[in-house]
Amino acid sequence: MTEGFALPTRFGAQSLGGCYAPETLMQPLLDLEAAFRAASVDPAFLAELRAELRHFVGRPTPLTPAPRLAAKLGLKVLFLKREDLTHTGAHKINNALAQAILARRMGKTEIIAETGAGQHGVATAAACARLGLACTVYMGVTDMARQAPNVARMRLFGAKVMPVEAGQGTLKEAVNEALRAWAGQCDRAHYILGSALGPHPFPTLVRSFQTVIGEEARAQVMDQSGSLPEVVLACAGGGSNGLGLLVPFLGDGLRRVAVEAGGYGTALGEHAARLDGGHMGVLHGCKTLLLQDEHGHTAETASISAGLDYPALGPELAALVLDGQVEVRRASDEEALTGARMLCENEGILPALESSHALALLPALVAEGVATVLLGLSGRGDKDLSTYQARLGI
Ligand SMILES: *Cc1c(COP(=O)(O)O)cnc(C)c1O
Repeated sequence: MTEGFALPTRFGAQSLGGCYAPETLMQPLLDLEAAFRAASVDPAFLAELRAELRHFVGRPTPLTPAPRLAAKLGLKVLFLKREDLTHTGAHKINNALAQAILARRMGKTEIIAETGAGQHGVATAAACARLGLACTVYMGVTDMARQAPNVARMRLFGAKVMPVEAGQGTLKEAVNEALRAWAGQCDRAHYILGSALGPHPFPTLVRSFQTVIGEEARAQVMDQSGSLPEVVLACAGGGSNGLGLLVPFLGDGLRRVAVEAGGYGTALGEHAARLDGGHMGVLHGCKTLLLQDEHGHTAETASISAGLDYPALGPELAALVLDGQVEVRRASDEEALTGARMLCENEGILPALESSHALALLPALVAEGVATVLLGLSGRGDKDLSTYQARLGI
C-alpha cells in the first residue's frame, strides 16, 4: 500500500517512522501526502500560509537576548526564541494553522485533533474558528483537570471537547481516540496531529510546518550577534518544537540538544525520558523510541508538564539522536520549576512548564564550559499558573 508515497517514509539507519496504520486510514493518509506535496509547491497555498502566519499568528516571533539570566548563570550570551509570543501562546499554532489551511484545500469541513497540555487543542480550535471549520478535540480527563483554562478556551472558540477516560487519561489515550474517530469520518474530516508523530506523512508534515522557528531564529541570531551559538537547545515531547528549531541548524558545527521530562524519579513510570530506558517499538502508527515494560506494553509516564508527558519520541528526532546529530538530556520536575523561576525573576518572562525543562539544563551546560546558547521558548506559562502556585508556594 505504501508505494504511493513519494516523500521518505523512514528516518535514519534504524528506519524509524513508517506507516503502521489500519487499512481504513491508508487512503486518507495517501490523499494527505498527495495534498501536502501539491500544496508545498503551490504559490497560492504558500502565500496564504505566509500571510496568516504574519497577520494571525504574529510571525516572525522575536529573538530576545536574556542578559540578566545569562549573567546569573555564568553564560556569555543567551538568546530566547519566543514562540510563547505567538497567538495562543505556543509553537503549536504554526502547525495547526497550516494543516487547517491544507484541510480546507482538500475540501474537508471538519477537523479532529487530540491534545495533551491543551495547547494544540487551543491552537487547532483557534485555526478552525479563523477558517470556518468545525472542530472536535479529544482530551484525556486527567489533562482536562490540570489544564482547565485551555478547555474553556477551546469551548469559547466553538470547539467540542471530548473527554477521554481510558487509561491514564492523558495524551496517549487522546491520540487513540482521535485516530479512531478519524477512521469513521475521513471523507469529510481531517485529523490535525499536534506533534511530529504518527503514521507517515504526519511526522514530515508537522516538522515541515515547524521549521519556520529555526529558519527565523538562525537569521535573527546571525543578524543580532554575527555568529552562531555553541548550543541550540529545546525541550522534547513528541519533538515538533525541537525539530522546528534544530533542523535548520543541522549543517552547522554546533551542539543541538533536546531535553526530555525527567519527572520525579528514574524508575519506569516516574518520567518521560525515552532515551533512558526507551526501546524500539510501534505506537500511534510509527516505529520509534518508546517507553515499554518488560512485556512490551507501552509504559506509563510522569511529568509535571502535560506537553512532555508522552511515552514516545517522534521518529525523525529519535533518528537524529541515534545518528549522533542531536544530544538528548533530561530535566526533573524540580529542576524545571527552578528554571522557570529563574527566567521569571531575571527577565520578566513566564515560561510554559515544558519550556522550563530546556531552561533547567542551562546550569549543566555552563558546567560543561558552554558560553553561548540559543534556547527555544516553546510556550508561555499562563496555563501552568496553578501548578507554579502550588509547587513554588507563591
Ligand atoms: C506541546 C508542547 C511541547 C511539546 O511538544 P513537542 O512536539 O515536543 O514540541 C513543548 N512546549 C509547549 C509549550 C507545548 O505546548
